[in-house]
Amino acid sequence: MKKLLILLLVPLIVACDRLFSLEGELRPIRDPKIGTCECPYDRRRDGRECGATSAYDRGGGGERPICYIAQDKQVISNNKHLLMGNPSNATANPNNLNNYLLEKPEYALSYNANTGTANWVSWQLNQSWLGSSDRQNTFRPDNSLPENFYQVTAKDYANTGYDRGHIIPSGDRTRTREENSATFLMVNMLPQVPDLNREVWNELESESRRLVDRGKELYIVAGPHGKIKTIANGKVTVPKYNWKVVLILDRPGGNAKSVTAQTKAIAVWMPNDDSVKRTSWKNYIVTVDDVEAKTGYDFFSNVPPTVQKVIESQRYIP
Ligand code: MN
Ligand code: MN
Repeated sequence: MKKLLILLLVPLIVACDRLFSLEGELRPIRDPKIGTCECPYDRRRDGRECGATSAYDRGGGGERPICYIAQDKQVISNNKHLLMGNPSNATANPNNLNNYLLEKPEYALSYNANTGTANWVSWQLNQSWLGSSDRQNTFRPDNSLPENFYQVTAKDYANTGYDRGHIIPSGDRTRTREENSATFLMVNMLPQVPDLNREVWNELESESRRLVDRGKELYIVAGPHGKIKTIANGKVTVPKYNWKVVLILDRPGGNAKSVTAQTKAIAVWMPNDDSVKRTSWKNYIVTVDDVEAKTGYDFFSNVPPTVQKVIESQRYIP
């Protein structure tokens, strides 16, 4: 009898011990909304699926859910926006100030608290994302950032001469109002000169949707590079360049294995100044290799290296 009791108790004590040591690694997410669980593991955003490395606590009386994220674990993501890879190996660790992974149903990004902008935003685009929602114009801070990060506000770009330039365009998320609104979070903005935002950058956005209208599925990554100056009392860096890479799959439903040496990718490197005025976006076409060399990121890293080598060295003009 005594032996049986010990046999039962020992695993229980070990289990409790594990729970306590796990708790030590967890950190609450800033101001989680009541009734939701905004942890990066909660893919359906209903609090039911917080995943193995996070916890959902209804608190005393079930009033206030608290999300925790593990500090030192890399997210093993099945996020469709990261299907082709995580260009900078961003992690959802709040101490990773320069390369913090933020996953949303609408897109994924690496955030840089020092520049007050994303390093890159990555998203899938196919016909299913496009609908009839109009532009929501809900520019707002992203309160899902860790509490030690400054939250850029909608007013931080005011009177600077720079547009709040979308990285993933509003026009790429028109299926629902909620999805469109997600593109207006300030983590998806770059200070862009109007001549860039409204002309050449915008032209490539339209070209991308034309490809989708023809049945293609795109995997797009875009971001800033370099520094002209800062705005918002030094909290936001105005980039010298904006770049984008667009991987073009023949049909929706693909993955990294669908990519072959015949797959094409558009890459551009555009200056963030008025020299782009009245030019064609095609003037800025480079190779994916060029963008990788300048940024230090590895795009499409889930694609076999031999295939990447072919696709990324071509200067593709659609
Ligand atoms: Mn724009
Ligand atoms: Mn690559």
